[in-house]
Amino acid sequence: AHALKRHFITRKPIFGEPTVVRAVDGVDIAVGEGETFAIVGESGCGKSTLARLLVRLIEPSEGQVSYRGQDIGALSDKELRNLRAELQFIFQDPFSSLNPRMTVGALIEEPLRTHGIGTADERRADVARILTRVGLRPEHADRYPHEFSGGQRQRIGIARALVTRPKVLIGDEPVSALDVSIQAQVINILEDLKDEFGLTLIVIAHDLAVIRHMSDRVAVMYLGKIVEVGPTDALFEAPAHPYTEALLEAIPIPSVGARKARVAVDGDPPNPIAPPSGCRFHTRCPYTAPKCRTDEPALRDMGNGRVAACHFIGDLALKGIQPDAVRR
Ligand code: SF4
Ligand code: MG
Repeated sequence: AHALKRHFITRKPIFGEPTVVRAVDGVDIAVGEGETFAIVGESGCGKSTLARLLVRLIEPSEGQVSYRGQDIGALSDKELRNLRAELQFIFQDPFSSLNPRMTVGALIEEPLRTHGIGTADERRADVARILTRVGLRPEHADRYPHEFSGGQRQRIGIARALVTRPKVLIGDEPVSALDVSIQAQVINILEDLKDEFGLTLIVIAHDLAVIRHMSDRVAVMYLGKIVEVGPTDALFEAPAHPYTEALLEAIPIPSVGARKARVAVDGDPPNPIAPPSGCRFHTRCPYTAPKCRTDEPALRDMGNGRVAACHFIGDLALKGIQPDAVRR
């Protein structure tokens, strides 16, 4: 993804004027083939919007997404349909994404039919095979989604996404609606299938624990921007960006609602939709310095595949430094 932006216009009369929500605001990421890449951030940070932009479920306002060197925004409808067989999506809530009036077999077969793959017999065989692969049984094909538990429904969602043998699978919070005990099972299935199918996996999560053991690299998003990217182990061991540090240490950082109140007290522009000036994290960062309020930090290369957007990276190791020592 290059310089990707997605701005929504909301007509909700918050301040009487239509408002621009910069859900994704200039994101550059490159995901390698066969990689498991996680995008992490609080709800409302734009990660779901980013995921949908990556597969062109929604169109960007600016910027482009390339898949194997090809700009997917320039594809014809037919080319885009073919691409859809290669880039599949699984959703947070498998129930709302599964038509309740279709049998499980028909639901899983649907993408094959859409893409004109196989004869009716071959499709039935494919459905039976993929059901077994996700830990269900071929005879489950005759049942309806409501007859299954949440974890089983997510397995059905995975079967439906994988039946076309895609190369890339994007999961938007694929396990966050499930009980913790079921989450591990679904993650294990995803990991097994990733190896078997040679998938590139992009996983969106708000919970760092979920992606710690499955992802190769992590991108941390804050208010529509990527603030840090790095190999998972390195990033967990020594987060570079104060926001990542806060997410990892579960430092109670003020909620978005609380931030609004504080912004008003500090006399900043009274528009919660406009991101803060300078570093977007400055209203919540324990290390904020005057420069942070005016200058936006660019993503800087720290070596070893790590980048982060903070004025003080490279100048000081934020870890171990008292926040007050930085505040000037
Ligand atoms: Fe915090 Fe300043 Fe770094 Fe932003 S640039 S993360 S406000 S120290
Ligand atoms: Mg979301």
